[in-house]
Amino acid sequence: MEQASVHNGINQAMQQQMNLRLVLRMLWKEGVCSRAKLAKLSGLQRPTISNIIRDCIQCGLVVEQGLMEGEKGRRSIGIAINGEQYRVIAVKVSRRKCWVMLMGLSGQCYEQEWFPITRQEDAAVTISNLRTYIAQMIDRHPECQVLAVGMTVPGPFKRVNEEIIFVTNLVGWEGVHLMKELKKLGNIPVFIGNDANAAAAAYLWKEGNQPGASDLVYVIAGYGIGSGIVSHGRLLTGSLGIAGEIGHTSICYDGPKCECGNRGCLECYCSAIVLERNLQSRLNAGEASCLQPCSGRLTWKDIEEAIQRNDPMAVREFVQVCRYLAMGIVNLINQCNPSKVIIGDLLTKLAPQLLLETVREFVRGSVRPTIWEHLSIELDQMEQDPILLGAGMLAVEQVLDNPSEFIPNMPR
Ligand SMILES: [Zn+2]
Repeated sequence: MEQASVHNGINQAMQQQMNLRLVLRMLWKEGVCSRAKLAKLSGLQRPTISNIIRDCIQCGLVVEQGLMEGEKGRRSIGIAINGEQYRVIAVKVSRRKCWVMLMGLSGQCYEQEWFPITRQEDAAVTISNLRTYIAQMIDRHPECQVLAVGMTVPGPFKRVNEEIIFVTNLVGWEGVHLMKELKKLGNIPVFIGNDANAAAAAYLWKEGNQPGASDLVYVIAGYGIGSGIVSHGRLLTGSLGIAGEIGHTSICYDGPKCECGNRGCLECYCSAIVLERNLQSRLNAGEASCLQPCSGRLTWKDIEEAIQRNDPMAVREFVQVCRYLAMGIVNLINQCNPSKVIIGDLLTKLAPQLLLETVREFVRGSVRPTIWEHLSIELDQMEQDPILLGAGMLAVEQVLDNPSEFIPNMPR
């Protein structure tokens, strides 16, 4: 492994780059680690590890963090990825808001803000606002160097030519080439992915060592419905990168026509937008409810309060949406056989326990007992927003895979 190999066409420089990438990835996953443990985990010799770490410390990519307890009671110096000097910007675009976060390479949040995306706003307006927010955030932090931008979008994203295929309920995003649009940020490279995939990747990074984490599904239950699938410790992406788009799997063959071209898509029955629309139309029809939108339009606060006050109409509509969501989850379970399903995003914030109990009850009654016994369904409990963290990770992974492309004084 350590020697330059002529046989398989790997020269010494390539081998060094591979070793560097391996060590950085391990260090990133471990958090704080000793040189000895890195050597053990990677299978590389101690001197190789020491050389790599020395170069990384010199260019500010890695820092020493005091003494830590090692094997057989020996104490050794802890090393970690340096979150201070180099950072990335994480961007999460949803259908109503856009979040921008300054993130350290180890996932630390240094600053976070959001701006609204107004209904029927054209993609060009959102992208222009986004450029301004990113540029201002970089200007406010001269103490660090922003190496890259990682960004998630709420629709199928085609990896092949980096293009958004479409986003339901958003105007003008179909076929948008975000990379080109964001080029005006200067020389900072931009990396883009789908939101559910990013959240699943964030869970895999944070909880990859825990039982069940190598076969998990993250379900986004928000303005849209989507999922990120981790199978055997790897994110399942498919040929174009759009695997896991459960929002566009049909649950009714002659149901309403969806923007994707299919009929009866799950997303037409259980997104947050559908819940809002259903409640609004019931109110318009004069149905009795404590929901009284003061500005003429329902807000999430109105809906949340009504469910908490046990308003029969609001609870009934919410439970119905949860059942449809559960139906989509049953399909997902039968397709991917996860050991853990994590549900996150807006709908889970409205009435977390009611959603969880409704989904569990429905799924339990719809799958074989053996499947149920080996399955856990949970709500997203991560401290940070996993989508935003996953967005930042899209950029961090690129930096760690090719540090010399991003850091000028990094030895090649
Ligand atoms: Zn669809």
